[in-house]
Amino acid sequence: MLEDRDRIFKNLYNDYGWQIESSIKIGDWKDTKEICTKGKEWIINEIKTSELRGRGGAGFPTGLKLSFTPKEQGTKSHYLIINADESEPGTCKDRDILRFEPQKLIEGCLITSYAIGAHTSYIYIRGEFFREGERLQQAIDQAYEKNFIGKNACGTGWDLDIYLHYGAGAYICGEETALLESLEGKRGQPRSKPPFPALVGLYGCPTIVNNVETIAVIPTILRRGAKWFASLGRSKNTGTKIFCITGNVNNPCNVEEEMGVPLKELIEKHAGGVIGGWNNLLAVIPGGSSMPLLPKSVCDTLRMDFDYLVNQKSGLGTAAIVVINKDQDIIKCIARIAKFYKHESCGQCTPCREGTGWLWRMLERLAKGEGTLKEIDLLFDVTKQIEGHTICAFGEASAWPVQGLLRHFRKEIERRNSSNPLVGRTDVKIPYLIDQHLLEKENA
Ligand code: SF4
Repeated sequence: MLEDRDRIFKNLYNDYGWQIESSIKIGDWKDTKEICTKGKEWIINEIKTSELRGRGGAGFPTGLKLSFTPKEQGTKSHYLIINADESEPGTCKDRDILRFEPQKLIEGCLITSYAIGAHTSYIYIRGEFFREGERLQQAIDQAYEKNFIGKNACGTGWDLDIYLHYGAGAYICGEETALLESLEGKRGQPRSKPPFPALVGLYGCPTIVNNVETIAVIPTILRRGAKWFASLGRSKNTGTKIFCITGNVNNPCNVEEEMGVPLKELIEKHAGGVIGGWNNLLAVIPGGSSMPLLPKSVCDTLRMDFDYLVNQKSGLGTAAIVVINKDQDIIKCIARIAKFYKHESCGQCTPCREGTGWLWRMLERLAKGEGTLKEIDLLFDVTKQIEGHTICAFGEASAWPVQGLLRHFRKEIERRNSSNPLVGRTDVKIPYLIDQHLLEKENA
């Protein structure tokens, strides 16, 4: 269990108050000028040494990402964008940072902007976070009043302005290039890559886009040292992380813990246990709705870090743990997630636009026992037609939950659908497109 002295987010439950005076008392804005005085290269190297990986879902090494911006400032401005869109179902960690620890984010903005040569930073916040946005704006105003940001921010000689920008509620605007399009006032649709934002980002200028939690931990890492951060967790999976625990638990919560913490410890110690007891656990989605679920047999010994979960054919994602107990219909749960992705597809890529609808409709039918056994393979086939064939990672996000269901609960789908009187009949009446696809496969 994480020691209190190693906790970065000391005010995650608002025990001390969110105002800037309270934040200063718990250590924010301490030695910020001295940190910047050590230089851009030192800051980026220190973040590299800490092995901090992005906390927004992809887990890309943060120090490496920052080093992608051009070292010399040309005629183009550099930008730092904070992704506060937090739309992944099950995830609510950034929301509490914005509400209770806003100064950590603002201080992180200053240090990171300084390191990448940005004088302007935008915080892109999801539109539904209206109250959180109001709070954050107050916190930004307080930081301006103290001259922590603005002209000669914190006495560093660096000028930084921070602007808050509300999104309009589209999930896809959490994808960094769709976010940039939206910020530019266009329709929020992902861009084809390359070029990557570090070279061609906002208004065609070098831009770094990072998640709220990633930027908010940077000041503490630099104050306490990269070696301290790297001593928590294990190699390439270092530091602490805020886990969001929701679903069928007695006490849904956000909690900061060391990377690699056992899943069982998170659920039992922090979230009050599974409703109905540990043996009533059916499955867990370990990293937000886009990550493949894992059955109870795996959960007994599961550890929560990037690489451990990849080895289990899932992922840490945003570290949003959705607990599903035996009272739930697992096929319906995944059908519900499929409906969400169908609704949120931006429509640019055919496999995603059409395939997400297929996944949802087939899962609905299989959940009711109205499918055929052939459709189970077809369902997997559709996920493979989407995965890897789209502009952005939304394709994978929609395909992986279904693949996880098929990997671990295929028998349940078969059981439910084998009693379908249509099974075995060649004249099964299923929707036209699927019917045609089956015929084509059979004739091939
Ligand atoms: Fe849009 Fe889906 Fe293509 Fe992403 S994968 S660009 S969300 S259509």
